[in-house]
Amino acid sequence: CLNLVWKRKEVYSMKKHLWIGGQWLEAREHRPLYAPYSGAHLADVAYADAAEVEQALAAAEAARPLMARMPAHERAAILERLAALIRANAERCAELIALEAAKPITTAKLEVERTIATYKFAAEEAKRIHGETIPLDAAPGGEGRIAYTMRQPLGVVAAITPFNFPMNLVAHKVGPAIAAGNTIVLKPAGQTPLTALLLAELLEQAGLPAGALNVVTGSGSLIGDLLVTDARVKAVTFTGSPEVGIAIRSKAGLRRVTLELGSNSALLVDQGVDVDAMIARAVTGAFSFAGQVCISIQRIYVHEALFDTFVQKFVAQTAKLRLGDPLDPATDVSALISARDAERALAWIAEAEQHGAVVAAGNRRDGNVVAPTVLLHAPASTRVACQEAFAPIVLINRIASIEEGISLVNDSRYGLQAGVYTNDLRTAFAAAEALEVGGVMINDIPTFRVDHMPYGGVKESGTGREGVKYAIEELTELKLVSIRK
Ligand code: NAD
Repeated sequence: CLNLVWKRKEVYSMKKHLWIGGQWLEAREHRPLYAPYSGAHLADVAYADAAEVEQALAAAEAARPLMARMPAHERAAILERLAALIRANAERCAELIALEAAKPITTAKLEVERTIATYKFAAEEAKRIHGETIPLDAAPGGEGRIAYTMRQPLGVVAAITPFNFPMNLVAHKVGPAIAAGNTIVLKPAGQTPLTALLLAELLEQAGLPAGALNVVTGSGSLIGDLLVTDARVKAVTFTGSPEVGIAIRSKAGLRRVTLELGSNSALLVDQGVDVDAMIARAVTGAFSFAGQVCISIQRIYVHEALFDTFVQKFVAQTAKLRLGDPLDPATDVSALISARDAERALAWIAEAEQHGAVVAAGNRRDGNVVAPTVLLHAPASTRVACQEAFAPIVLINRIASIEEGISLVNDSRYGLQAGVYTNDLRTAFAAAEALEVGGVMINDIPTFRVDHMPYGGVKESGTGREGVKYAIEELTELKLVSIRK
């Protein structure tokens, strides 16, 4: 890996600047960025101060009228060109994700494909942002008018993103914001700024006007606070941890806030299900990107009729996963984002064991790589059950009925997505209705997501929806026009 990184140093410039007003601005401070797997020094990344954040906000505000006036076909064309440029740079993008996030290269390539799809959806949606006519005469006194609604851009949008999908979750904010005619100040995750900076480069080539996208890297709390409380910022769209999301909400006042937060997603497995047909998918849902996915399977509740079979097959499938270097195409599971997270994962497993959980696989660590860990019978009060693990840890518990499973799934601070495998249509509909989540996947894992579907959570998993069309609704103002005849 180190050799590869050295070769890449020729490709990626080492000192990373701020992208403000269509220019690379050398920040007053830089901080080193290290690869989570190898520890290799990847770059020195700008660490913006308050004055530099102010410059980004001023640039976004200055570009606002131009973006608001830009016709839909031009906004769509920029997004289409961006998708083509990402396609042309797909290998470079995937390698950057693999290096900075320790995401296995095969998974990183999938993220790049999804990013292209997200921008293409944004290009399509840009062309169909419309209102509707309103029959005001449905109310007495409303006669004699023609009324319609329109959707207008909000203005400056602050986008704050997490480390785990550094390209596609940025796309879920930047794509809809441009499609709607907004301008953006983007604060990418501190661990994964490089792909966001590459995006700035590609968007400039795609023809986005100067100042329409600004990328500021540095302290989450400093930049976050400045963005969330600035009068020019009309909407904050945040993906990340519930702790930060809740803090943002408390500071954002009346501005529009979309929060895509964490979860401890669950999978229910009913009696009579063909375990062989779904086990590989369940293991992928639990351990893809080492469990650092907001809809990663963390809890599995299996009907007692097939509990033992399920556990045996799940553990056997888990044993096939290959651990190692994210740049090796054979790797399934690589390092967690930091040593602190690897330590935390092991501490949570130990706590579950102390409270009676049985370790059926894993519970080892090599550097920042934590082996996929399967825990049986972990009590609901342990952290692996009731908090978000964001690590390759899954617990499997026995249930006597799907009703019991539903109440266990709902006994959570979170509610993002849930999966239910069942052969019984009535059970499927009942679960879909009763599960307290933003999305229910019948005969699939909770980890299923494609980029145009509405996506978001309830409870501490967030507020608002993404999925390009729905994100555009969050990032536009609905205005009513009534004309008296
Ligand atoms: P995080 O909350 O630590 O950081 C997210 C972003 O917030 C980063 O850019 C960070 O710099 C910034 N930030 C930190 N402090 C801030 C503050 N005080 N004000 C404003 N911004 C601040 O999250 P993370 O560790 O990067 O990502 C993991 C979390 O993201 C998990 O909880 C995961 O479930 C969640 N997530 C949710 C979704 C979803 O769509 N629901 C998707 C991916 C990740």
